[in-house]
Formats: sequence, C-alpha cells, structure tokens
Amino acid sequence: MFFLIPLISIGAWAKYYSIDESSLINLLKIMAPVCLGIYIIGEFLFWALLSRVKPSFRFGFWWGVFILAPYYIFQVSYNAGPLLRPLPAITLYPIYLISGLVSATALGLITWCIWGLLFDAKNAGSPLKMALSRLLILLICLAVLIPTFAKNRAAQPDLVRKRTSYRAFVPRQLERQPSHRMIVLGLDGGDWDVITPLVDQGKLPNMKKLMSEGRWGTLESQTPMRSPSLWTSIFTGQPAKKHGIEDWLVSYSKNRLVKAMWNICSEFGLRSTIINIPATFPPEEIAGKEISGFPYPNLTLNTYGWLLSTQPLTTSLTPFSQLSAKMDANGNLDGTIYVRDVLIEKYNRGMRGKIFRNMALEYILKTKMGEIYGRDIAVAKFKFKPKDEQIEILPVKGEGAAFGTLGKDGWTDFFIVSLGPGTSAVAKIRVLVIDKDNVTLYMSPFFQPSDNPTYPYTFPKSLAKDITDLFGQYIVEMSWMGVQDVITFPAIRDLLFYMEEKNVQVGETLYKEHEWDLFIHYFGLTDRFQHPTWNYRSGDLKKEALGDIPNRDQVYDEAVGAIDESYAMFDKWLGTVLSTIDPSKDMIMVMSDHGFTQGTGRENKLGAHRLEGIYLVWGEPVTGVNHSDYKSNHADKKSILDITPNMLYLMDLPVAEDLPGKLWLDLYTKEYQDAHKLLTIKTYGKEEAEKGTEQNVDRSTLEQIKGLGYLNGATNIEGN
Ligand SMILES: [Zn+2]
Repeated sequence: MFFLIPLISIGAWAKYYSIDESSLINLLKIMAPVCLGIYIIGEFLFWALLSRVKPSFRFGFWWGVFILAPYYIFQVSYNAGPLLRPLPAITLYPIYLISGLVSATALGLITWCIWGLLFDAKNAGSPLKMALSRLLILLICLAVLIPTFAKNRAAQPDLVRKRTSYRAFVPRQLERQPSHRMIVLGLDGGDWDVITPLVDQGKLPNMKKLMSEGRWGTLESQTPMRSPSLWTSIFTGQPAKKHGIEDWLVSYSKNRLVKAMWNICSEFGLRSTIINIPATFPPEEIAGKEISGFPYPNLTLNTYGWLLSTQPLTTSLTPFSQLSAKMDANGNLDGTIYVRDVLIEKYNRGMRGKIFRNMALEYILKTKMGEIYGRDIAVAKFKFKPKDEQIEILPVKGEGAAFGTLGKDGWTDFFIVSLGPGTSAVAKIRVLVIDKDNVTLYMSPFFQPSDNPTYPYTFPKSLAKDITDLFGQYIVEMSWMGVQDVITFPAIRDLLFYMEEKNVQVGETLYKEHEWDLFIHYFGLTDRFQHPTWNYRSGDLKKEALGDIPNRDQVYDEAVGAIDESYAMFDKWLGTVLSTIDPSKDMIMVMSDHGFTQGTGRENKLGAHRLEGIYLVWGEPVTGVNHSDYKSNHADKKSILDITPNMLYLMDLPVAEDLPGKLWLDLYTKEYQDAHKLLTIKTYGKEEAEKGTEQNVDRSTLEQIKGLGYLNGATNIEGN
C-alpha cells in the first residue's frame, strides 16, 4: 500500500546528494529492488505477526525506515562518536540497526497518534483518556527523536574541537603606536642548503640583498613536521599541543585554540593582510583581509557539496589511477575513464576514522559510477586510435568532437570536468599513455570557481570576486598538492606554477595597497617541488630511476631544475616587495616551517622534511649587520615558537607571558630596545567567545569610538 514511499525516498536521497539524472537511474536500479524488498518483507511481517498494527502507524514507519532512520543513525553515530568509537565494529551495526528501528517506530507512533487524535478520538469510548494517552506517546516519541534535531555533526565531520569566537574580537587599547609595519614571507620547506649555493651563484639576488642587510640563521622546527600544524605554531607562538592543530584532519581555523597574530592585531585595531597560510580555513573575520590556505574540509557527506564533489582531506598526494583497457580485434582501444578508483580511495580516506560509512553510496561508487561527467557532455569514453597514435576522449551521449587528444609527451591535454550537476567543484583531468595496454589516468585535485565559490575562501567575501576580476581563475589549493612520483611531475608542474603565480600576483596587489600593518604571505611551491625532485637534484637518483617513460629526458631535466625555479620565483616576489619598501618603517621576516632533506631508505624516492628550517630578519631594528659579507650575518639557531613573540615585540604589541618562545634580543640594536621597552600581558587568552563582541570593528570605527571616549570602559588588557 505504501510501496511508493521507498521509491520517493530514493529520489529524495538522490536529491540530497545532488546525484544527476543518469546516476539516478543507476541508483534506482540497485536501490529500488533492495528497498522494495525490505518493504515487502516488512509488510509481510506486519501481516503475519503484527496484524493489529494500523496503516496510520505503517505510513509513518516506512517514511521512518527510508528517510528518517539513515539520518538518525548519522546523528547518533556522530553525536555519540566518542562513546561508540572504542567499541568493536561488530557491535556497532546492531546499535545502528536498533537506533534506526527505534527512530522509524517513533515516527510510526507519531503518525498513529496524530491520526488517532484527528479521527479516532471522538468515536472512542472515553475520548479524553484516549487523547491524553496518545498525546503522551506523541511526546515520548518526539523525545526519542531529539537526536534528529541536534546540530548536524555530519555536516562538519572534521571540526572536532569547538572554537566559538574565531569571528569575534574584543577591542584592546594600543599602549604605543607601532613604529614598524611587519612583512612576513613564509617559504614552505625553505632550506639554507638550497638557498646559500644559489645566492653564491647569483641566482637569488633579492635574497642576497636581505641576507646582506639583515640577520639570518637556522629556525628549528618541531615534530611531527606537518605544515599546517607548524605554520600555526609559527603564528600563534604555541606548540601544537597547545594550539590544537595537531593533525591534518583538524587543520582548520575553527579548531585553533589560541589566538594567532592576526586575531591579536585585530583586537588592537591593527590591520592584517594574510594570504594562503595553511590551516586558516574557514576565513576569519579580522581587521583586514584574508585568503584562506589549505586544507579545505572533507566534503564527503556534508552540506558543502555531494559525495564526489571534491577532495577529502588527506595528506595523500595527487591521485594517479591506472586504467585497464584491452585492445579489440581491430586494434582499437575502447574504454571508459573510470574516475571511481580515485574517488573510492579518496572517499575511503576521507571516511577513515569515521565510525559510520555510507555503504550504499560506496557500493554505488564501486559498481555503477565512474564515467566522467564533463561540463558540456554527459558521459565520456576514450578511444585510442593506434594508427595516428591519438587518444580521443569522446562524448558518448550526443554528438561532439573529442575533447582531449594525446600530445607527443604521452599526455592528453588537460580537460575540465565537473562530477555531475549540483556541484561547482571541478577537476582537471589528463590521461597518460605509457603503452597501448597501459593507460594511466591522472587527475588533478578539484578546485572551485573562484568568483562564486562553494566555500567562501576570503574575508571579506567580496575579495574573491575582486581577485577573479583582476587575475582570472584563482585556484584555491584545497588539499596539499604534490606529486607522488616524478613521472607525474610534468603534469602537475604547470598547474602548480600557474597557481603560485596567481598567488604571488594577488600577494603583490594586496601588498601594494599598503592597507595593512601586518602582511603575511605564504609561498608553497618550494615544498611542492622539493618533495618529488629533491633526490634527482642531489644526484642520488639518476635518469634511469624514472623507468621507461615517454619523454624521459624532458621529465628528468624538469625535475632536476624545478627546485631552483621555485626559489627563483620566490626571489622575484621578494624583489617586488623590496622595490616599494620603506626601510624606515617596514620590517621583513622570512621563515620556513621546516627544512628539507632526502628521504631515508632505498625505496623512498621522495624528499623529506628536516628540522632545520630558515629565518631571516631585516629592518631598522636589526643589529650586527655586515653589508659586505652576507655570510657573517649568520646568527644563532632559533625556534619556530620564537616568531610570534618577536613579531609582537617588533610591532610594539605586548608579548604574552604564556608564550614559550624567546625574544631575539641579540639581533636588535640597543637604541631600538631602549626606545621600545618590552610590553607584556599575562595572556591573550583562549579562543572563547566573549559577550557582546560579535560585531566586526574596523579600524576607522574603532578610531571613532575611541575619539568619542567610549572605549575606555571597554578595554580588556589582562595584565601589563
Ligand atoms: Zn612538505
């Protein structure tokens, strides 16, 4: 009688996951028999065993089974996650089954009660008694369903720690107007062992200028060396245990438990421009501007998009999937590009550690989905024409020209695909043909349109559009992008270059606006290139290590030269900064989160992080500089935890006593130290919302408020 309910439910779930039409047909093919089967068995059991169960109950019950129960189980699994996680998996399924049944039964009882109240009560023997009993049952059932209405934890599966006030800041009073503006350039994986030889060869002229006019040395990192965690240490002054960004999975601004430099500056009404710093998504409301850096959250099963719409959060390297395709009798190689292997892997990684997996969707992914859904095409298949050595990616549905052809290097062009309608995330894809029986799919990470993003990645939001208007597509690096193997290097090299170029262009523009007191720019290309090519550059890996691949010479040459190119690009950017700098007012700090070395073990072909990173300070307060010999400006080893206290000191802001880092008093002139007595504060506090501070106070407003004398009572300096 209610057999339409399971079918409508499947449609509703498909809509929830934005599954497109052709996938919906696949979905129906699998799910309809399953759901109808469940329905028929259920109805049979009702008929055979529980014949007194009323249709009004069954109506609600079946909606409960197919719509409410899956959601209810989600909610239970996420909200009771910490309790359930230690239990062995085998006990979890009965728990989920029972909670699903309980929720469906509750919904059934609710519809039964409502029906009873509306239609049966007046005919009952004692209407009042019946109405009261039904009302009571109704209330109990609603109570049982409370978890349904709990905050949808599934929507943000990775935001495990609460941090409520990332958007709020309390105005604090400046004790002293800052005499310097701070320019901070982060160089991921920057290492002196690369830089100094390049400086000596004259390849990094701007770096040489900074090293000759400033002080520099080794910056000791901390283990484990995970970039988002380390950059957070750099800009909070606290170790990972304190600031909370201990792992990639929690590397979001919301999870940061202490204030970062830009939060502190905001509180003083100082403006920060921060660009691309890892672990700063989602963007925070600060006094100033922000472009969030990687990583972006896991989109699987959340409100941002649908299952396939983007990368899950992993430290995984760029996916590489092998296609198995056999030649037919005519010598044609026909096949479908199966994205599914890549997606399944990504999906599973995204779900690792989660106690509930959407097995139905996983099953569909594994069995039925996999064709590429192109922007203008329905389903793509590839065709390999051995005669002209061309690979063609052809639309299967409808007419259309090939949208990917094989180049001489064995790769097709990049072509853009979006994985179904309902998502703005797109991916770039290209195919590498190693030999005719061995076609390899390379897929770039997903990215989103930069002007109207699915995720806001800037503050203010309008900045995203300004950037796109000025520079065209700005690729937001959603996951850390790297390469697993140098064979894929040419494929990703151009994309990474493109991304970093845009990133630098945006940096230049925002830098030249000079509407900031603190300017932080993160440059990541160095780390991206060092991982795959370090051992080739050092000569530990020879050309032969690449194996028998198309265009081996070119791949090898590009790999060997890549690291130098990335440092040269950074140096050029440094040149732009230096060209408009005001030495009496501006200071520069350069640092890396860790250094670099070759990977250990024979099999490890990738470069690896090492503790010895770099720091450099340049500006009027710096002492002990010998302009004629940059090497003599080498200073003692410092720690990444020192960066924040030194930034605070150099910006005339109070240095918090709970910061474990040291001030670099050996590097600052006596005159500077005399004129800038150290200001201290007990702590800048934890990141917790404070009453009545939700609004965003910009500098001019703050100035106005100050001018009107309102601020005195509202200052909030905790100690001095
Ligand atoms: Zn790295």
